[in-house]
Amino acid sequence: MTTEHHTTPEEEAQVEERAFQTEVQQVLQILVHSLYTDKDVFLRELVSNASDALDKIRFRSLTDQGIVDPDAELEIDISVDKSASKLTIRDTGIGMTRDEVNRNIGTIAHSGSREFLERLSAEQDEEQRLKLIGQFGVGFYSVFMIAERVVLTTRSADPEAEAVVWESTGDGSYTVATTRDKTGRGTEIQVFVRSDCEEYLDAHRLEAVVRRHSDYVAYPIKVAGKQSNEASALWARPRNEITEEQYKEFYQHLSGDHQEPLVWEHVAVDVPIQFYAVLYLPRQSPLELLFSPEPKVRVNLHVKRVFIQDDCEVLPLYLRFVRGVVDCDDLPLNVARESLQNNPVVAKIRQTLTRRVLSCIEGLADRDPAAFLTFWESFGIVLKEGVARDFEHREQVGKLLRFYSSFSRKLATDAGPAEADAVEAGQADAVKAQGEEAGQAAAAGEATQEADAEADAEDAAESQEKARTPESEGLVSLQAYVDRMKSDQEKIFYLSGDSRAAVEQSPLLEAFRRHDLEVLYLTDPVDEWVVGSMQDFDGKSFQAIDAEDVELPEEVKLEGTEDAGDKERTIELVSYLKKELEERVGDVRESSRLSDSPCALVTPKGGVSQQMERLMRISDESFPLTKRTLEINPGHAAIRNMGELLKTQRDSEELKSWSHFLVDYVLLAEGQVEDPQRVMGQIQKMMGAASEAALAERKQEDS
Ligand code: ADP
Repeated sequence: MTTEHHTTPEEEAQVEERAFQTEVQQVLQILVHSLYTDKDVFLRELVSNASDALDKIRFRSLTDQGIVDPDAELEIDISVDKSASKLTIRDTGIGMTRDEVNRNIGTIAHSGSREFLERLSAEQDEEQRLKLIGQFGVGFYSVFMIAERVVLTTRSADPEAEAVVWESTGDGSYTVATTRDKTGRGTEIQVFVRSDCEEYLDAHRLEAVVRRHSDYVAYPIKVAGKQSNEASALWARPRNEITEEQYKEFYQHLSGDHQEPLVWEHVAVDVPIQFYAVLYLPRQSPLELLFSPEPKVRVNLHVKRVFIQDDCEVLPLYLRFVRGVVDCDDLPLNVARESLQNNPVVAKIRQTLTRRVLSCIEGLADRDPAAFLTFWESFGIVLKEGVARDFEHREQVGKLLRFYSSFSRKLATDAGPAEADAVEAGQADAVKAQGEEAGQAAAAGEATQEADAEADAEDAAESQEKARTPESEGLVSLQAYVDRMKSDQEKIFYLSGDSRAAVEQSPLLEAFRRHDLEVLYLTDPVDEWVVGSMQDFDGKSFQAIDAEDVELPEEVKLEGTEDAGDKERTIELVSYLKKELEERVGDVRESSRLSDSPCALVTPKGGVSQQMERLMRISDESFPLTKRTLEINPGHAAIRNMGELLKTQRDSEELKSWSHFLVDYVLLAEGQVEDPQRVMGQIQKMMGAASEAALAERKQEDS
């Protein structure tokens, strides 16, 4: 064994060799052999770990004076020993016990690394696999991109714990032993740099990396004795002194998300309470963060620059996708977790930040529709909760909602040309790139060309992405709906269903289409609940168009063109159907809103809509099913003929199965058919009858 310290025989006995967890071995395998070019990330990861360890000891020292080295300077020190090809990163953080070393550096607990592995196993292309390293930042293990051997020595802040030395060459195993050589608190990582990575033995190079990736770290980082970072909390600095790059780096540090944030908001408030905040909207969040059974607001709380905890209700839960940091001067440093829940200072901060986040999202919608669409697709479903849960900001959240509507296709087409142009331009670029590639093949090296072509393709992909906006996707806001409403229109019409395609098929839309009245499509299971909670928007209330008692604008109703005989036929049919379909529908009536379709199913007065019913039955299986009302269209040939048939052949089997088919017809369109066999049988019969009728007609024509 070749550790860098001198073990006594009795310690030697405590040396154990352990295999890395299989997942770690997989990560290491990738890293050791990686051709990934941006190897600088290893330093960011090690410094970030050191900074976390310093946060932890600073917090603990507030209440616990019995720690090792209570007065040690909180800092990170990076030194180089060129002759030994060794780089050392030392911190005075909380350190680790032997158990903690085995648990933390030997297994993967960190969700980022797990996700990294999952994505890695799904990815075949070698180049894409390498990119994942940079995107996920795989923590401590990334040091093996540049190291042939790593020795980590650590002493926990716990006075009882012995110091531990851990060593590995990044193959399948590592060793752990107790050591007497480290007396001070904290962790020291000796990195024996591979011969092809000697650039990391150059102090200037290291300094530049620190400045670029770790400037936001709140503790001094010394490279060869010289402080290389700003070491002041980013959020407490004036906005105009912070670059975009710094905001983005800080976001990565905070969230571990290696995609750039969509937008951020830097808040500094003096009165009535003093606090700072930097809040980010991510592009995506891990699903478990959004849909966990115990969701949390993932904003770090600091008090007077001291890190207190990584979740705190400084925002309502429906904004839990926001990542960031809040630092307040008006809370006590020893504030207890429980007492934060009803703390008036926290409540005040929450009020201010909620308003700021909502208007930040609103600003995004105005300024950068493509980014807003990304936001909406990732988090719209979470944001919606706000309508029901935050009465105070109901209207503001309502403004941010987007729905498909019966105008979607038209609006998307109107927004379309821009999209088409962008796609074409993208393709033209790609074609051009190919052409250039061919032309230059003889002259230039292939590698640069490939890089060019790739860059062009990326540009093209980017401009295509830019072209996707809520408008081009047919998503409408409530405000746009209200602004377009007809002058005599009182209500916001909507129809709910399983999917956009299913709702679009509904016969109930016919009258609205004919009169150019817009209908919102509520296709998310929670949408009706949301709309129900909102009650009204801009003074207009919501109206489901599948309600039996819907108040239709006068113009939508069909004028009665039937004569008395027709009327009687319809009344007869209605009463026949009521009896025949007793089991399946609650009521039958003549419709005044259908033009092309023979029939529709509507929600009876006071009844629960289909979407609501499905939502309720998820939590309560015994929730009673509502029988809907069948509306028939007396102007439709099928209904007319059934009425005629009824006059002469009341007991016909045909009439009976036709009656049932009326219900199945609607269910089919909704994708909810109850008995597919019966429907198939019925369709077969109808196909037979229709083809015979066609043939008979031909024969008659011929003769
Ligand atoms: P992550 O930091 O994302 O959790 P890492 O693999 O980088 O994943 O680190 C794993 C764990 O090891 C950390 O969560 C921390 O508990 C511990 N650790 C790493 N470096 C240090 C350090 N310098 N001081 C104390 N603990 C550390």
